[in-house]
Amino acid sequence: MKDRQSRRDALKLLGAAGIAAAAAPLAQAQPTPAAPATPSSTPLQNGNGFYRHTAGPLTLTVVSDGAAPLAELLPTWGANPDRQAEFAATLAEYGVAATNTVNHFNPVVVDLGGQRTLIDTGRGGTGGQLLANLRRAGILPLSIDTVFITHGHGDHIGGLTTGGRPTFPRARHVMGRAEFEYWAQGQNGQPIGDPVKNNLIALRDRFTLIEPGGEIAPGITSVPTPGHTPHHQSVLIRSGQDQAMVLGDAGGHFLLSLRHPGAYVRFDVDGAQAARTRQEIFARIVGEKMWVTGYHFPFPAIGRLRRMDTQGAYEYEPTVWRWS
Ligand SMILES: [Zn+2]
Repeated sequence: MKDRQSRRDALKLLGAAGIAAAAAPLAQAQPTPAAPATPSSTPLQNGNGFYRHTAGPLTLTVVSDGAAPLAELLPTWGANPDRQAEFAATLAEYGVAATNTVNHFNPVVVDLGGQRTLIDTGRGGTGGQLLANLRRAGILPLSIDTVFITHGHGDHIGGLTTGGRPTFPRARHVMGRAEFEYWAQGQNGQPIGDPVKNNLIALRDRFTLIEPGGEIAPGITSVPTPGHTPHHQSVLIRSGQDQAMVLGDAGGHFLLSLRHPGAYVRFDVDGAQAARTRQEIFARIVGEKMWVTGYHFPFPAIGRLRRMDTQGAYEYEPTVWRWS
């Protein structure tokens, strides 16, 4: 799983959207849409690119960055070479399409205690839908107080800049120190990719780099979930009795990563570690009855987990949809 060729392939695949986006010349970059002079007075209805989940004073808004076509779900989302038949059987059992499907991208906005925090920023560039869907959700980029980045992959950092400028100009930018440095230094002498150059290195002065478990904003802390990348961090939100875990890519695939202990994803830098981390975080989420969101889970990507009879196996239960 750590063989160099497959890692290179994975990075290539992963980077396709983000690299294209970040490398897009200024002229092709999507212009920032003009902000409406006054917020719309029409009640906002869930489903138009965003989904708002409220629990007392906490509001989580999943804001889709869109979806990318995915020709084959395997082996990307269940990469263990010796378990392909097992994964295919699970997809068939649940009626989940294995071919001609899509990959979702789901940044999350947290409103808590008068502070607004955006977790991950989508792909950016011409493909990214985050800005359009934030607008639909009535969330102005200028209203974001804090941006947190779970890890340095292009589909999570690509939206940090738009046309070479910070997309969220008023926001504190926060990321784990070791994760930031891992990407900013480059790996094994390989050239640093454009998404990292344009979105992390270019904004370095705006970033507050935190240690594992550090506070992101009041009530919001990072949770180390290494494996997908060496210093990946998920996000724990606490509001009274309510807790939510924004997994980022520590969730992996909404069916295969939960159903099959030991399964890893092709983009996991260390597959075995990623699988161990998933076991720990899933057990905690179930044990503490948390809400959960997964960045690549199908929109609206928010729900609960439950334990299955098989040791170490879990199931994702999407939330019961509400229109408002
Ligand atoms: Zn991702």
